Amino acid sequence: MKISVDPSQCYGSGDCVYRAPDVFTVADGFGSVIPGREDAGDAPEVREAVEGCPSQAITLGER
Ligand code: SF4
Repeated sequence: MKISVDPSQCYGSGDCVYRAPDVFTVADGFGSVIPGREDAGDAPEVREAVEGCPSQAITLGER
């Protein structure tokens, strides 16, 4: 599953980085996917990050 973060919904809480630090980072105040990790959406910690994002900014889609 391909991961994407909608910067218009993200407010930079950093929860995603806390849950999956190998996949997410906070840059310029917004959460984003670390380059090259966009296809890590099947990892359990990524699913936790999606469910735990307080603004539902993270989505998983088809590759
Ligand atoms: S958990 Fe959600 S709101 Fe917080 S930084 Fe990550 S994407 Fe943004």
